[in-house]
Amino acid sequence: MPTTVLRLGHRTQRDKRVTTHCALVARAFGAKDMLYSGDKDPKFETGIKEMVSSWGGDFSVKYAKSWRNVIKNFNGKKIHLTMYGLPFEEQPLPKGNILVIVGAEKVPGEVYELADQNVAVGNQPHSEIAALAVYLNRLNGVRKRFSNVHLSITPMAKGKKITTRKG
Ligand code: SAM
Repeated sequence: MPTTVLRLGHRTQRDKRVTTHCALVARAFGAKDMLYSGDKDPKFETGIKEMVSSWGGDFSVKYAKSWRNVIKNFNGKKIHLTMYGLPFEEQPLPKGNILVIVGAEKVPGEVYELADQNVAVGNQPHSEIAALAVYLNRLNGVRKRFSNVHLSITPMAKGKKITTRKG
């Protein structure tokens, strides 16, 4: 399914690793892009761009000043991941364009109203990275193929093998 992730409320100092990991998970589990709101963070954007140019594909991250506009204008199903929601495995899987929304600290109540589904990956507090991985795995599985690959891994039972393609 064409999937976009919206990461709410990024804080440059506090969230730099977590937001980066959300983007890495989004890409690895088949999302086509990630939008983020909160602090604009060029260093985070550059890091993901460099990662994609090495490991392939066309995943991108883009800053969105207004998360409200992103959600309101999104043409598709909006799925908010929250520990307060209904068990994700019992909800119908959305079809078509999908926006998967994850928070950072306090998520505004309006997000719960604007979402088509508020779903929980277990009703315990954990992490946006984990919630995203589990939910996207259900939606898209693990992405196996990427275009324009410069670095790739040959799976091995033991040891490490990375192939570098120049150019
Ligand atoms: N207290 C915050 C709130 O207002 O919802 C949650 C903070 S939590 C550290 C950050 C994000 O992780 C949440 O906004 C949500 O997207 C995700 N998350 C954490 N636990 C979750 C769960 N059990 N199921 C789904 N998402 C979860």
